[in-house]
Amino acid sequence: MSKRPITVSVDRLRRKRPDGPPPRRLPADERSCPKCQSHWRADEMRRNLRVCATCGHHFAVGARERLDQFADDGWLELWPELRASDPLQFVDLEPYPDRVERAERAGNNEALVVGELAMGGHECIAAIMDFSYLGGSMGSVVGEKLARAADRCVERGVPMVVLTASGGARMQEGVIALMQMAKTVVAFELMQDAELPVIVVLVHPTTGGVWASFASLGDVTYAEPGALIAFSGPRVIEQTTREKLAPEFGRAETQLLNGQVDAVVDRRELKDRIAKVLGILERPTGLDPAPAVTWAQETAERAASVARGLPERSRRLVSKVLKPEEGA
Ligand SMILES: [Zn+2]
Repeated sequence: MSKRPITVSVDRLRRKRPDGPPPRRLPADERSCPKCQSHWRADEMRRNLRVCATCGHHFAVGARERLDQFADDGWLELWPELRASDPLQFVDLEPYPDRVERAERAGNNEALVVGELAMGGHECIAAIMDFSYLGGSMGSVVGEKLARAADRCVERGVPMVVLTASGGARMQEGVIALMQMAKTVVAFELMQDAELPVIVVLVHPTTGGVWASFASLGDVTYAEPGALIAFSGPRVIEQTTREKLAPEFGRAETQLLNGQVDAVVDRRELKDRIAKVLGILERPTGLDPAPAVTWAQETAERAASVARGLPERSRRLVSKVLKPEEGA
């Protein structure tokens, strides 16, 4: 295959445009809503958590901004130093390290940012995916950070809040990326064994290996309105099957009807909803074991003492059966 660059003639594109006034160029700090065409300044967008105040369209939010939205009073980033290596020396249109470097220049260090914070007064660890970093793809660093986050939760006895936005496994890391599916599932099982809750928020889009692994394993699963939640996106399915899919295919509202999601929650209510659930599921005092653990320990101790007494009692019973005249 030749590697000739694709050239596009601007003149031809101009000719295609219907006659009429040229579209107004927005100032650099303004965004236009793709649904209702309302214009919002950067400060208005940030204040309204990047939700269109007119129609409720949810714009994409970066991981760090999301942590700012969730935290009561600042947050501490964990393991920002982890970086992906390139064991396959993978080159598609450009080498993998070049892609990583470009993504880093845009302001993030990986597709998952983990932070320690308090939400509505409840201590937790939040693992937030960022779609702007290589399509939020899951590679070795995402898997490792999530596994460490689960370890830290168990160590400190705190719940985990996970927010997903991903195109799936990172193809540049090949089978190593696919292995992260199993690794993240084990991390979630660790949380389950320790009786610590995991709250998952599915954000547009949550697809591929991320949806097929940890994203679908939360104890409580919320989704943002209109988010695409599916293994394959509609474009891929339509190209493969050559059939047109319904516009609501894979959307959060459809997944709610299918029972895959517990509730579709507007971003402006999300923090309060999560904090409320954390309050209900939280352990009563700091690092004390959960009531279920205490109950299990007590039951085990009772069973053990019964078992210790059993041989002697059994012996007495047996002797009574053998010599009934002695007891009479
Ligand atoms: Zn709008």
